[in-house]
Order: sequence, then structure tokens, then C-alpha cells
Amino acid sequence: MSSNSGIQIPSRLPLLLTHEGVLLPGSTMRISVETARNMHLVKNRLLKGTSLKSTIIGVIPNTRDPEYDTEDLPTLHSIGTAGLAVQVVGSNWPKPHYTLLITGLCRFRVAQLLKEGPFPVAEVEQLDKLEQYTSPDEMSEAAGPDGELGELSQRFYQAAVQLVGMLDMSVPVVAKLRRLLDSLPRETLPDVLASMIHTSNKEKLQVLDAVSLEERFKKTLPLLTRQIEGLKLLQKTRKPRLDDDKRVLAVRKGGVLPGRQFSLDEEGDDEDGDDTAVLERKVKGANMPEPALRVCLKELKRLKKMPQSMPEYALTRNYLDLMVELPWSKSTTDCLDIHAARVLLDSDHYAMEKLKRRVLEYLAVRQLKSTLKGPILCFVGPPGVGKTSVGRSIARTLGREFHRIALGGVCDQSDIRGHRRTYVGSMPGRIINGLKTVGVNNPVFLLDEVDKLGKSLQGDPASALLEVLDPEQNHSFTDHYLNVAFDLSQVLFIATANSTATIPPALLDRMEVLQVQGYTQEEKVEIAHRHLIPHQLEQHGLTPQQLQIPQDTTQDIISKYTREAGVRSLERKIGAICRAVAVKVAEGHNVTKSEAAPAERSAPQGAEHGGRKTSRGKPLSVGQEGGLTDWHSYSIRPCPQTYCSEGKRGRRAEEPDGVSADMAAPPDMPIVIDHIALKDILGPHVFEMEVSERLTLPGVAVGLAWTPLGGEIMFVEASRMEGEGQLTLTGQLGDVMKESAHLAMSWLRSNAKTYQLTNLVGGSDPLEGTDIHLHFPAGAVTKDGPSAGVTMVTVLASLFSGRLVRSDVAMTGEITLRGLVLPVGGIKDKVLAAHRAGVKCVIIPKRNEKDLEEIPANVRKELDFVTASNLDEVLNAAFDGGFPGMSNPLTLPHIVSKL
Ligand code: ADP
Repeated sequence: MSSNSGIQIPSRLPLLLTHEGVLLPGSTMRISVETARNMHLVKNRLLKGTSLKSTIIGVIPNTRDPEYDTEDLPTLHSIGTAGLAVQVVGSNWPKPHYTLLITGLCRFRVAQLLKEGPFPVAEVEQLDKLEQYTSPDEMSEAAGPDGELGELSQRFYQAAVQLVGMLDMSVPVVAKLRRLLDSLPRETLPDVLASMIHTSNKEKLQVLDAVSLEERFKKTLPLLTRQIEGLKLLQKTRKPRLDDDKRVLAVRKGGVLPGRQFSLDEEGDDEDGDDTAVLERKVKGANMPEPALRVCLKELKRLKKMPQSMPEYALTRNYLDLMVELPWSKSTTDCLDIHAARVLLDSDHYAMEKLKRRVLEYLAVRQLKSTLKGPILCFVGPPGVGKTSVGRSIARTLGREFHRIALGGVCDQSDIRGHRRTYVGSMPGRIINGLKTVGVNNPVFLLDEVDKLGKSLQGDPASALLEVLDPEQNHSFTDHYLNVAFDLSQVLFIATANSTATIPPALLDRMEVLQVQGYTQEEKVEIAHRHLIPHQLEQHGLTPQQLQIPQDTTQDIISKYTREAGVRSLERKIGAICRAVAVKVAEGHNVTKSEAAPAERSAPQGAEHGGRKTSRGKPLSVGQEGGLTDWHSYSIRPCPQTYCSEGKRGRRAEEPDGVSADMAAPPDMPIVIDHIALKDILGPHVFEMEVSERLTLPGVAVGLAWTPLGGEIMFVEASRMEGEGQLTLTGQLGDVMKESAHLAMSWLRSNAKTYQLTNLVGGSDPLEGTDIHLHFPAGAVTKDGPSAGVTMVTVLASLFSGRLVRSDVAMTGEITLRGLVLPVGGIKDKVLAAHRAGVKCVIIPKRNEKDLEEIPANVRKELDFVTASNLDEVLNAAFDGGFPGMSNPLTLPHIVSKL
């Protein structure tokens, strides 16, 4: 072949050696680049070069066995194909590599190797002519001279036409190929067809090596004939089916990719065919509404025409799989019995009466009117108070599936509504995903933490939720991924939040808020014994016969190791105890098996079993016996009557003295956790009753704050120093709190004489020559709200008078400039926090008196409440023996100042 006319390839070409196949001119091939040599070629030549010339490389089949391929350059196959790198894709996973898409241009012969590293470059001789444009007439002229070559090319052309004729013309690739046969120069046909039909790499290599056109036709014609025979055989052996041909040709898009040949692999084809048929059957049987069915059938039709290797095939397939799996008309039957619901709610949850009552009302209305488009319930309260678990109980009472959707931190509306299918990695939103998971269209969806939804550039998920939760709209909720409407009206949505403050108003408007308050100490003890301990025992494979936690130990855990409104931390601590005891029990078990087997056998099972007389003061060291070296033993003592709910378990068999001396024995059961054991397992106390300790200086008072995590006590501190009357506030206070501080200061200054408040040098203006610093602890947490007003007045009054605030008093209330005390919110949580912290007296605004009804009777009994309508009353209650000036009526300061 001459190379003196048409397009010339560069005379020096970088060489890419590949094991992956043989690139023939006119075909396109994807080559994975992993070897160091080829990586260098891509990086230094393809990625750096800017001209078209620099994207032309020589591709040479690496004939060396890949198993024995080494670093050094193998003997080069003398003929290769110059190719144009059309696409370079880099990836770091699973290891750094590139994938090249290369279109073969023409053959070349390696004339001389110019350099070997970092990638080989050779002087090459172009073997095929590369025409710029040839009209069909010229082509036939060129390819159709008389003689043997002309006849060969004609036979080849006819065979190719016959082959294409056997395929389904409705497949776009086949139609394209048919057109190509007529428009391509005949001399290019052998290369193009050899790369498409079923040929081995060895056969392709022979085609590559066939430099003369005649030889090339001779080499490829038998391959073509073989393919035609194969197809004929296939069509004969198969029942004629409409889409057989389509499946015989498994071609990639473009149709000229080698390796994507006509497949004669019957089995694979069958499977594939069945697959779409199965899918079609599923689509038709999914009972989906008309519009969804129409979309599915359309997609299915597209899928059938798509070659499997197309990326879109997998996408469409996934889409159809999801559509089929969605519960369009699958639902569970509600089995609602209000009486049973009441029993179930009561048995699952202790206390929370108000919430349970409202939930029962809600369920009752549902029973009477099954198509209730009622409000969405939203449980608002601190963490661990049972919001999620009430949601789960509701699902159980209704006999519905339960699914929790955690919304905390979700800041992309596609999380709710899905991504459009045009995006790479698109997927449906959480609602549709949830429906797929539960498999029915009427589950209970718990939208957890709606108050923690974020916002970002990707849209506002809260507004997407609006559509989900609105009963007027949600019967046709359209997920972007599905792109067809799904009816959500049967789904029962329940939301939970820690605070309503951060729930977007529009969303809040759709929901009925039910406050779930924190628990009192007593309620927590009950919850622990009724629910948490049995649950944890079960989780750790223990039984009440092996581990018992008496009530006073539980109380200790609650007051000394946890400080929370809910019971989650308490549950974790109980879990820690169970784990520690499980080790003992497991080790004891081993000892029992190996050493104490006879004793075991003789002892009766159950409560009386294996008891060895030990006393509380003289604990049996199981740790040492069990093999743990440096671990304090648990106190093992007879099961106390108080904890054993069934009296019979409380008594242990009397055993002869001396048995306790048997130190090699396993631990006695049950292991009862007392205070010493508790300290061993959970470590030193985390929380102390520190209120009285911290109130030993003037200028400190206890305030009560409300946080989304429940009530908190807060030690407000004030100090003064020489200065110019500046008030400094620290502790990340919001504007309202800063204003409260100024109010407190002004009120105290205006009443300084009445209350005999002085500055550093005894002057009557507390601010004169003095700087004041007021600090609210937990400096890292932002605080705001007016309810710290009374605490600020008290703390400053203490500072200016030099008197100590009563150590057992905590307070809350907003103040006005005239010294009135206004009501505040969150009284129950605040009072419970004060009670938890061991405070004895709580000062609240008079107008909050009604809120005291919500407080459990036992807490009310243990606390003194002072209801104050003005600051006189607050100061009077906050200081031992009252506060000077308190006898004066409110108006007195005015009269004094006027005189
Ligand atoms: P929340 O959703 O409010 O953060 P959870 O529902 O996850 O809290 O509750 C945490 C744990 O506390 C659960 O194991 C739950 O069963 C238990 N729990 C909370 N309150 C009660 C209660 N009143 N009675 C029984 N168990 C409770």
C-alpha cells in the first residue's frame, strides 16, 4: 500500500502495548491503561499534548503472555494500528488507572525503535492509505478494479450484506451498519467487519498482519462465512421469535466496538431474553396505576432495544426494578381495637399519660373514620423520652409496618424528593425508598428530628416535606426519580422533634404538636425496672436469676451517673452493667462446667440453685476465680426481697457454713448490684449534688433554663472590680438576655437605697467606680430568652449586699423595669431539673402557678414553691431571713428618691 497520497500520520509515534485485544483500522476500542509504561504515555503525551497530532498513538498488540510480562520492553509485534485517542478517563479506584477510547486509523510498520523509556517511541511507516473523502463512485472505482481483487471485494460485500440482512433492521445499530456497507470504501470493509463479528484475537492479529488488500479479503471472508453459517444454524434450531435476531446481535452503541461481537452464546441470550420477559410480566402484574404503567412499558420497550453494555441499560433496568417493587396497591389491613391499643400503649410505656391519651383519641377517630385526613402528630420533647418508641407502638397497635426516616442534618431536597434520572448516580428520595423497604403503601412513617432539617444550595428539604405531609397534595406525590405520581395518602406520618423553635412555620402548621416532657426520678426508676432492665437483660442474654439491680442502685445510677430528661443514658448505663455481669456469668459458666460440675448437678435449678453463703460485707471475689486479674469483685449477696417481684425468688436456700470458703466456685446467682459494685463498673460518680457547694460566695445564684434537651440548672455568677461603671456579660448571651441584664442592673440601681446596696467603697450607686461582670456558665452554648431576669437581679443583689443566696433555691422568671415578675415557659422541665439537682425551693412567677399542676405529685411534695409577682418577693425568698427593704411596699423607693 502506498502512503504517498491522502492523510499522513506522524512518522514518529509513541507506542501503547496492550493485552486487551487487537485494534483494527476503522474500529473503536476501549483500552485500560495500568502498566507504568502506558501510564507514562497517557500522562506525558495524551494529557499534556494540545495538538491533534499529539492524540495519535500507535497501538501494538502485546503478544507476550500477560502472566510473564515484565518491566522490560517485550519484542514488538512489527505491525500496529495508529489510533486517535478520543477519550481519556482517569480513576483512582481500585487503583490509579486510565481508560482510553481509541479509534483505529491505519496500519503502520515499526521501522525503528527510537527510545524505550519512559514509554516506547518508534519511527513508523504508514501502510494504509487514509483518504480525506471519497465519493461512492470513486470508491467503487478504487475498490472495484477488474481481476481477482475486484471479485474478492464483491464477494465480501455480498456476504456482508447477507449477514446484515439476517439481523433485525429495527435495531438502530443494524440499520446503521447496513448504510455503512454502502458508503464505506470497500477496502475498509474487512477491517470493520472483522472487528465486529465473532473472532478471536489470534484471527484479528492475522487480519492486522494482512497488509495487502487481497490477503486481507482472503483472511476475513472465511470468518464472515463462518458467522453467517452460525446464524443460519441458530435460526434453524430456534423457534422463530420476533426478537431473536435482536438478541443475536449484542452490539454496543456505535456498533463498531471489537469485543462486542455477534454472540452465538445461546444460553446467555436466553437468560437475557427471559429476563426482560420476566420484567415485563412483573410490570404488568405490579398493579400500578395507568400513568405509571404507561411509563414502564415505554421504558421496557427502550430497554429491549438497548445493548446490555450501554450504561443507560443498567439505569433503565434499575428504574424498572424499583417501579415493580413499589407497593402500588399492596397494603396491610388495619386491625384497630382501641381497648387493645390502650393495653399495648400502657404495657410499652410507663407514665406519659397525656401523650397516650391523645394518641388513643387519634386512633379512635381513625377507627370511626378510616379515611381520616387528620393532622400529622408531632411529638416534641427532649431526647430519650420515648417519642420514637411511641411511634413504633402506634404502628403495632394498628398492625402496620413501621419505618423511621432520620431527617437530622438533611439539607438537600433531593433527599426527600429524589434526583432526576438524568443525574449520574440518581436515586429516589427517602420516602419512596422507605415504601420500597416496607413493601406496603400504608406504613407508619416516623419522620425523626424534623427540627434538624438543614438548608443548602441544593434546596430546602422542609418545603419538599410540605408536599409529603399535606393531605390535600400527597395523594399524587411525585418523586423526581420516579417521575410519576405515587399516592401517599394511606401512609400515616408521625414526626418527632426536640424543639418547635427550629421547625419551619409552614411545616409546623401542618402538624399537631404534642409535648413530651422529661421524667422525674421516680418515673425513671419505674421505667428502668419495668422496661429498661428486662430489655437490657434480654439483649445481653441474661436472666433475672443471674442479675438483679435493686431500686436504690437504680436511683444511684439516675442521680450520680446520668443527668438527662429522658432515659437513654440510663439505659446505656444499665447496658454497661449487663455487659460486665455477662463476663462474670460466662466465666462462671466455664468454671461450673469444668470444676464445679458435681456441685451443680446436686443443686436444684432456679432461684435456689448454687447459692453459696456470702455476706454483703464480705464479697466473694469472682473476678479472681473467673480469671480476670485486676478487677474488683461484685458484692454477691442473697437476693433482697425488695427487688424480686415474685417473693419466692427472694429467698435462698440455707447452706452449711464453710461453703463460702470455696473460692474456686463460680459466682453465686443472682449477682446483685449494690453501690460498691456500681462504682466498680461505672467508675466514680459523674454528677454530684454540687448546688450547696457552689453557693459559698456572694454573687452566685441558681437559675433554671430550658433547653431542647430538657431543663437545666445554671449557676449564674457575678463579680465586681474597680472601674468606670461598665457591665460585662459573658456566656454567649442573646440580645434578650443582654437586655434582661441591663433591666436587672437598672432596677437595682434605682432601688439601691431601699435595699442598702452599695458599691466597692460603700457608695449608694452600685455602679459608681465599679465594673460589673456577669457570667452564665456552659460558655460554649448560646443562650437566650427572658427567663433569667430574676436570677440576674438576685445574683447582683447578693453581690452588692455581700450576702449569700440560699443554697437550696433555684429560680426562673422574666422581669420588668418596674420590678414585676412575668410568666415564662418550660416550667415542668425546669422544676424537674431543679428536683434532679437536689434543690429544695423553686421561685417561679405567680402567673405560672397553673403550670404546677403538670408536675408529678411526689415532686411537688418534695419541693417548696414560691410564686412571686414582684422582685421583692423573689429577693425575700432567695435570701435567708429575707432581704432588707422587703418590708417597704413597692412604691417606697419612689417616695424616697423624690425626697
Ligand atoms: P426519643 O425518640 O424520644 O429520643 P426513644 O423513643 O428512642 O426516645 O427512647 C429511648 C429508649 O427509652 C427506648 O428504649 C424506649 O423504649 C425507652 N423509653 C422511653 N420512655 C419510656 C417509657 N415511658 N416507658 C418505657 N420505655 C421508655
